[in-house]
Amino acid sequence: MHIIVLGTGIVGACTAAWLQRDGHRITFVSPLPPGQACSFGNAGSLSPSACLPVGMPGMWKQVPGWLRDPDGPLRIRPRYLHKVLPWMLRFLRASSREEVVRIAGALRGLLAPIFDSYDPLLAHANAQHLVRRTGCLYVYGSDASAARWKWGMDLRRNLGVELQEVSGAQLQALEPDLAERFGYALLAPDNGSTTDPEALVKALHAQCVADGADDIAGFALGFEQQGDRVTAVRLGDGRALECDGVVVATGAWSSPLAHSLGLDVPLETQRGYHVTVQSNNLALRHTVMAPEYNMMVNPMAMGLRLAGSVEFAGLTASPDWRRADVLLDKGREIFPRLDISRSTRWMGHRPCLPDSLPVIGRAPRTANAWLAFGHGHVGMCGGASTGREIAHLVAGRAPQVDLRPFSPERF
Ligand SMILES: Cc1cc2nc3c(=O)[nH]c(=O)nc-3n(C[C@H](O)[C@H](O)[C@H](O)COP(=O)(O)OP(=O)(O)OC[C@H]3O[C@@H](n4cnc5c(N)ncnc54)[C@H](O)[C@@H]3O)c2cc1C
Repeated sequence: MHIIVLGTGIVGACTAAWLQRDGHRITFVSPLPPGQACSFGNAGSLSPSACLPVGMPGMWKQVPGWLRDPDGPLRIRPRYLHKVLPWMLRFLRASSREEVVRIAGALRGLLAPIFDSYDPLLAHANAQHLVRRTGCLYVYGSDASAARWKWGMDLRRNLGVELQEVSGAQLQALEPDLAERFGYALLAPDNGSTTDPEALVKALHAQCVADGADDIAGFALGFEQQGDRVTAVRLGDGRALECDGVVVATGAWSSPLAHSLGLDVPLETQRGYHVTVQSNNLALRHTVMAPEYNMMVNPMAMGLRLAGSVEFAGLTASPDWRRADVLLDKGREIFPRLDISRSTRWMGHRPCLPDSLPVIGRAPRTANAWLAFGHGHVGMCGGASTGREIAHLVAGRAPQVDLRPFSPERF
């Protein structure tokens, strides 16, 4: 089939690569070059352990405190509050214990095969050097402070995630540059990361193009349909691109396209920030997740990347760079010897559904349109397995992952 893949982020690139392996002809459509939207500046963690939803039981109690703290991890721009409220209510409903157990099981199914689903694509694109499997340290002030996260960590373990306890001198030996206040950590040895998310997307996309994919700069507005079949994608410049099938992988910009296919999804953007410290003088061996700071730290090719923050302000509001600066301040608390003299800042739009699960499946009233968006905080982790599952669906093969929790119709 000739399949148009809308979006050249990690999800679009991986989906195209898996579809190509089945012999389909691919045309990419995106207004931005590959890897320039949310997939550009994320923390790059590739974590089979990242199966917990964002909304956790009891989290709502922390929300007022976070919102009062200008340096806190969560912000809702006042003018956006009324818009995001219905989404928030759904988010809170999805954070009950029963729901979290269900969601974590589903996400684990998608994320456990991270490396199985990336490896063939990386090998083919000669991009293995962009991914390493060096483990992630979840660091805490003490085992007592880690107790706040114990329920979630136990849930991870119950789902098969290996977590090793590390404390005191052992932790300092693993990461000598960590502040002394960190006395306890859980090591997830199976986790990995990319040294450059943008380069990873670009490499996968370039390989697709080398293998015959077309790449069109354009903004998809909607679809032409005959009966239940999409026959063409309509672009903003008036062109109509004919196709045998289409995949919507447009991240945080997917709502209007899903709507054109007859589906309304509660997609919201959680804006996140990074600072990349180019003057990095540390040689970290792991990715470091500091739950007390809501921050992920990853040593990358271009510097030490500190990423985090959740801001609700929609797709068009300008960035609030103070939120990036806070990450830098917190980074210095985690790594007091870090030279922060040179750094860059970035803001990106995480595509988020209230249950922290992406939409992966066929658009309900069509025979040949598939949806692959809403990966929230785990799009790098879930990109390749999503692509593989979409290829199975297109081919009519049985999925490898239980896709029922990811159904586009679940809302
Ligand atoms: C601070 C931060 C840290 C993060 N850290 C991690 C992490 O460590 N690990 C992890 O797994 N995830 C992480 N994430 C999340 C991850 O970055 C996203 O889930 C992922 O990048 C989403 O990929 P995507 O391909 O769906 O969307 P995007 O990368 O946003 O790509 C969307 C694509 O759609 C195109 N597009 C938009 N509108 C249209 C249209 N109308 N027609 C055609 N094309 C269109 C865009 O041009 C773009 O190519 C983080 C995110 C942030 C913000």
